Amino acid sequence: MLSSPSFAKPLFEDRRRALVDHLRGRGITDERVLHAIATVPRELFVPAAMRDKAYEDTALPIDERQTISQPYTVAAMTQALDVVPGQRILEIGTGSGYQAAVLAVLGAVVYSVERHHRLSQQARQTLESVGLGTVHLRVADGTIGWSSEAPFHGIVVTAGAPDVPEVLARQLTIGGRMIIPVGDRNEQQMYCVVRTSDESWRADDLGAFKFVPLIGREGWEDGIR
Ligand code: SAH
Repeated sequence: MLSSPSFAKPLFEDRRRALVDHLRGRGITDERVLHAIATVPRELFVPAAMRDKAYEDTALPIDERQTISQPYTVAAMTQALDVVPGQRILEIGTGSGYQAAVLAVLGAVVYSVERHHRLSQQARQTLESVGLGTVHLRVADGTIGWSSEAPFHGIVVTAGAPDVPEVLARQLTIGGRMIIPVGDRNEQQMYCVVRTSDESWRADDLGAFKFVPLIGREGWEDGIR
């Protein structure tokens, strides 16, 4: 009886609430972001064998040797994006679809690009299963953005870039912002790049993070992963 599905759901809900408290303690203050994290069932976005770890504040492996980002990282990036419902947001690196789900729950119109077909397909299934089938997914090199759908009020790059791709910066609205980790293949500084006019951008440093590499024309060469 203890393992019946009717017991499984409250268990995850309790863990989700505990994670939200933990994120609050780590300095996430935007209640809308915390509410979105309290809403999205992260256990459905991690491999079945890892469900038990879904509410630990760690990155977890997914297929294609990629990772679902750590909850704190998702929260910090989402808070920095400062999403207003109805805004068009581009995500580079769909992965599990978890970050896209959090953005969709916040009311964003989400466009998300992934280079691995299999991950995009799995993310599509998961998003549909939680009622978020409206997220627009595409399999492509996201380092060049999604020009036919530009401009975007926000862009979130969930893999580490060697530099800020200019082509992406030009797909922002004036006043739009891009959250992007920039550094070497192992460690990056997170930047909030704001487009202040047609030809000017400002970058604020949000601290050190670790992401899998952004692979593509304006990213790293396809090497080890
Ligand atoms: N946002 C994801 C995190 C995935 S990790 C989540 O919530 O689960 C980063 C993802 O970026 C990986 O799936 C990787 O395959 C993808 N990626 C790396 N370079 C890319 C590129 N140029 N275009 C699109 N996706 C890319």
